[in-house]
Amino acid sequence: MDKYKQFQKYLQSELDKIHADGLYKNERIIVSPQSAKIRIEPSQEILNFCANNYLGLSDNKELIEAAKDALDTHGYGMSSVRFICGTQDLHKQLEVAIANFFGTEDSILYASCFDANGGVFEPLLNEEDAIISDTLNHASIIDGVRLCKAMRYRYANADVADLEKQLQSAQAQRFRLIVTDGVFSMDGNVAPIDKIYELSQKYDAMIMVDESHSAGVVGKTGRGTTELFNLRGKVEIITGTLGKAFGGAIGGFTTGKKEIIDLLRQRSRPYLFSNSIPPLIAAAGIKTFEMLGKTNILQDKLHNNTAYFTEKLKAAGFDIKPTQSAICAVMLYDAKLSQDMAARLQNEGIYVTGFYYPVVPKGQARIRVQISAAHEIEHLDKCIAAFTKIGKELKII
Ligand SMILES: *Cc1c(COP(=O)(O)O)cnc(C)c1O
Repeated sequence: MDKYKQFQKYLQSELDKIHADGLYKNERIIVSPQSAKIRIEPSQEILNFCANNYLGLSDNKELIEAAKDALDTHGYGMSSVRFICGTQDLHKQLEVAIANFFGTEDSILYASCFDANGGVFEPLLNEEDAIISDTLNHASIIDGVRLCKAMRYRYANADVADLEKQLQSAQAQRFRLIVTDGVFSMDGNVAPIDKIYELSQKYDAMIMVDESHSAGVVGKTGRGTTELFNLRGKVEIITGTLGKAFGGAIGGFTTGKKEIIDLLRQRSRPYLFSNSIPPLIAAAGIKTFEMLGKTNILQDKLHNNTAYFTEKLKAAGFDIKPTQSAICAVMLYDAKLSQDMAARLQNEGIYVTGFYYPVVPKGQARIRVQISAAHEIEHLDKCIAAFTKIGKELKII
């Protein structure tokens, strides 16, 4: 008897369903470094408007140099978790650099922000406590909360009235933690951290912000939502990734109050039971924060690019979600239209992604454009021209 046969049949039927629903995801092969301009197979050069490469650091020469140097001075891999023999001077320096950047007391590195979020709740809170979470929070927050025994409350996206109701319901618990993404990746809206902070005072709650899409982007100098709302050092926990604005390679972190970080080092499972990030990643990370500490040139360019792009696209007649980040959602409201438009834009040399149900609510299909400091005005103009041309062909504008 072939013991795999029944299971294979079941898997094939699941895959068929995904295909039939039009949800099957294919990977596109890129044969160049990640950048504003990339090469994809079969041999097409295309402008990239769907990377999280917000500051354009993915192919930055200084970071590549720093990584190469670290290969020579610190080797390739650590072959260990941090607390056994996986901590080098580089890891400690990067943790200090991250805390300095966010104006926090200490930080702890993980292999990814997915791991940071997966390992943050369970060590800190138990069944006596409450987690009050935005419904649109990232999958890794949802998974992390599942691993924790605290009571769970959910509030509608960025809805402070609903958050207040949930906080009232959670008053019987010992500790309360409000959890939110800094920027929500589908609309590009910012969490109302100012209002959340007021409620946290009124209802005695702590705050955790995941700054993955906002760090390097939001706030005058890119320090994230706590800079935007003038609340630097006022939230207890920040998580983030090195995989987006900060070079885009890999790695995540939790930063905040020093006792929190200290306890995570003792008890956070993805930290205790998963490998240390390689030295070259730590070294390039240190270089990233060193560069961002010296100048705001990349943040300024990103902000200017985003304002330029959204204004021009609006003027062309497109319906755009108000954005406070580098994410620009061009609303089409029709799933098939979003796919057709993305396909036609690719023929014009513009790489963007269409999103539709279930990634966004039914009837909310859109094309998400992500702006980068790597884009030059000529790139933005080319993208705007392509949108305008295809938009007219498809009778959207
Ligand atoms: C991208 C993202 C993550 C995951 O980050 P990785 O470092 O790639 O695991 C977590 N949270 C949010 C809000 C994100 O946008």
